[in-house]
Amino acid sequence: MYIVMLGAPGSGKGTTAKILAKRLNLPHISTGDMFREQIKKGTELGKLADSYISKGELVPDELTINIVKDRLTWEDTKNGVILDGFPRTKAQAEALDAILQEAGKKVDIVPELIVPDQVIIDRILNRATCSNKECGAIYNTKYKPSKVPGVCDICGSKLVTRTDDNEEAIQNRLEVYRKNVQDLLDYYKEKNVLVSITPEDPTADNASEQAVDEILK
Ligand SMILES: [Zn+2]
Repeated sequence: MYIVMLGAPGSGKGTTAKILAKRLNLPHISTGDMFREQIKKGTELGKLADSYISKGELVPDELTINIVKDRLTWEDTKNGVILDGFPRTKAQAEALDAILQEAGKKVDIVPELIVPDQVIIDRILNRATCSNKECGAIYNTKYKPSKVPGVCDICGSKLVTRTDDNEEAIQNRLEVYRKNVQDLLDYYKEKNVLVSITPEDPTADNASEQAVDEILK
């Protein structure tokens, strides 16, 4: 099964994609992770991608398409994949269709995770992460607080919150997402593969599992 996972930043798209991949025993292909890995390894591709990402620009379609095209030739993708972060534009969606078509495959389902803006904002603003890198536990001071405020339940280290995000910046990111995703939604709607997923309680601990259940229903 070839699945394209859509959802706003902070919607839980990445977590849902990971659980979905595990359940279906398919590789989770995140273009963000792939670029980060190439950048870390210092490959030519990584250097090229970094020249855009470091300036806050989007990586050009051609570069993104090529990295995905190569990944889709790997043996582990022959029964399907969960794509996360790709396609991001209609041109990328058309390229993906062409790549899959060559192998006699197609995109089977495109779940869009829909979570209210306020939940996303609360989730990002109240996120607290364990400062112990080996632990890395994530809390939410509103929805999933630690037992002792500011202290990790698991390892007792100090919790840190990101301060560079404010409500306005998150709101802006959500607007940019919606503006850019519309073409893609229209494209997949026309192909009859788009499914809207609205978790009943997006703040629940198992919200991502619930979303996966809904996708596989
Ligand atoms: Zn910890």
